[in-house]
Amino acid sequence: MVKIVKLEHKEETGTYYMCEECGLIYAEISIAKCCEDWCRNHKSCNLEITRNAIKFEG
Ligand SMILES: [Zn+2]
Repeated sequence: MVKIVKLEHKEETGTYYMCEECGLIYAEISIAKCCEDWCRNHKSCNLEITRNAIKFEG
């Protein structure tokens, strides 16, 4: 299951979606689901998906 996370982190405040397989966080639930499906089936990361992940500084 994609996990809904609420963040308050400078400009990144809002609701985000975390792939529970790899822990990456996305702004779009559809991308988070894509990532989770990929992670579960391939046991690796797909750069086309993970490049959409939210990167948190610090
Ligand atoms: Zn993932």
